[in-house]
Amino acid sequence: MTDSLFAELGIIEPLCRALAAVDYQQPTPIQTQAIPQLLAGKDLLGIAQTGTGKTAAFAVPLLQRLAQAGPPAGADTVRALILAPTRELAIQIGEDFEAYGKHLNLRVATIFGGVGQNPQVSALRRGIDVLVATPGRLLDLVGQRLARLDKVSLLVLDEADRLLDMGFIRDVRRIVSGLPKARQSLLFSATMPDEVAALAREILRDPVRIDVSPKTVTVDLTDQHVVFVENGDKRHVLTKLLRTPAVTRAIVFTRTKHGANRVAEQLDRDGIAAEAIHGNKSQNARQRALESFKNGKTWVLVATDIAARGIDIDAVSHVFNFELPHEPESYVHRIGRTGRAGASGIAMSLCDSSERPRLRAIEKLIRRPISVMQVEIDASERAQAPVRAVQSASTRAAQPTSRRNRPTTSSRSGNVSGNGNRSPNADRSGNGNRSADGNRSANGNRSGNGSRSGSGNRSGSGAASSAPRRRRSPNQRGDDRSEIWSNR
Ligand code: AMP
Repeated sequence: MTDSLFAELGIIEPLCRALAAVDYQQPTPIQTQAIPQLLAGKDLLGIAQTGTGKTAAFAVPLLQRLAQAGPPAGADTVRALILAPTRELAIQIGEDFEAYGKHLNLRVATIFGGVGQNPQVSALRRGIDVLVATPGRLLDLVGQRLARLDKVSLLVLDEADRLLDMGFIRDVRRIVSGLPKARQSLLFSATMPDEVAALAREILRDPVRIDVSPKTVTVDLTDQHVVFVENGDKRHVLTKLLRTPAVTRAIVFTRTKHGANRVAEQLDRDGIAAEAIHGNKSQNARQRALESFKNGKTWVLVATDIAARGIDIDAVSHVFNFELPHEPESYVHRIGRTGRAGASGIAMSLCDSSERPRLRAIEKLIRRPISVMQVEIDASERAQAPVRAVQSASTRAAQPTSRRNRPTTSSRSGNVSGNGNRSPNADRSGNGNRSADGNRSANGNRSGNGSRSGSGNRSGSGAASSAPRRRRSPNQRGDDRSEIWSNR
């Protein structure tokens, strides 16, 4: 493995082998810059969004440092802590750690709210080398004295701006205040509002700063278009655009949960297999929708901003904004779902007259005009069946979605699994990995998890569902913020 470009950065052979297995042939710019610094023990401030390769930029050197620094975690010990704003992102990071660390004898576990805590507690008792967690649940467990963080020597705050947006910053501060002072700390954020900068100053010591600006990433790699259309015609325009052969796998963004349900329902009626994903759906339903999308059973995913956050699926050819977001930054995050890891993508936004100010704000942020595209709708296209009442999420999830499936394209993530059994190159069908009753937990563990996988990774993530703790934000705009609360 001496010819590996990762080896040239100082990465050890078992990690290079795992990276070769997921077909990472050369490091991305953030990896080239971050890996040597992190191996040398430096703190890091990374300005980067998903799509830049930032997860491997921190996961690979962290795994190496853990493997080289003494024995694996003993009972009641957590050695490295990764805090992430959403369950989906936590699961994805956990999967990445498992894939990269599959030749190392380290335990990886993922902990988040909305599922039973017992398996998580068992995993904590056994000891965890890499714990990926959402802040609310972790703080609960710390409060119950079920999680001890006094041996944490590595800390990563991922998507710090989202942690802030979602009201987690206080929880994060409380967690960090209980960690040993002698540790290596990393903070990643796509944007750097004052509060995140303040948090970085508090948490990081003399950090290296690496800036992979999201604006350059998305603007350079994504073809962006806007279609001016009156609201009543959006549905028809969307259907027409989705029927273009170039669209092989698409994410459609809506602003609200109801909007996501309605659009998915309309597309299904128009013969386009689509699934909705948003914070009102159970964790199982969301994972199922994601799996269907990843393995090509459905080729259109309709999502709200927060539910889509951190979704990492390769080969998304198009992103459609059914509605423009209120925050211009969300536009950048949305279109970052396409054109990932160097591939080019296409983003199309449907904009009605009431949304013109939002379009102007977006153009100001990305510092370029978005090209206008004309789409004509004729009478026959407009005359399609009117929408009936929105089906419940569970009914929709259960119905067949294969009326107009596209051929499967590859996706990076394997079956969602928290038991260390992920095989990066394995068949990604996801079929064998779900229980017949659909009762599987989001991270793949069902009961007494933590079983050791053949590759040496062990995991002890949460399992059986239980009702999330409810606390609602006053959210005048009706955006999908439910995850802010259900993550806890
Ligand atoms: P991230 O920014 O961590 O969400 O990663 C974005 C995507 O890039 C994921 O699909 C990764 O699997 C992929 N990726 C990360 N590093 C590399 C690499 N060095 N070569 C190819 N793909 C990569």
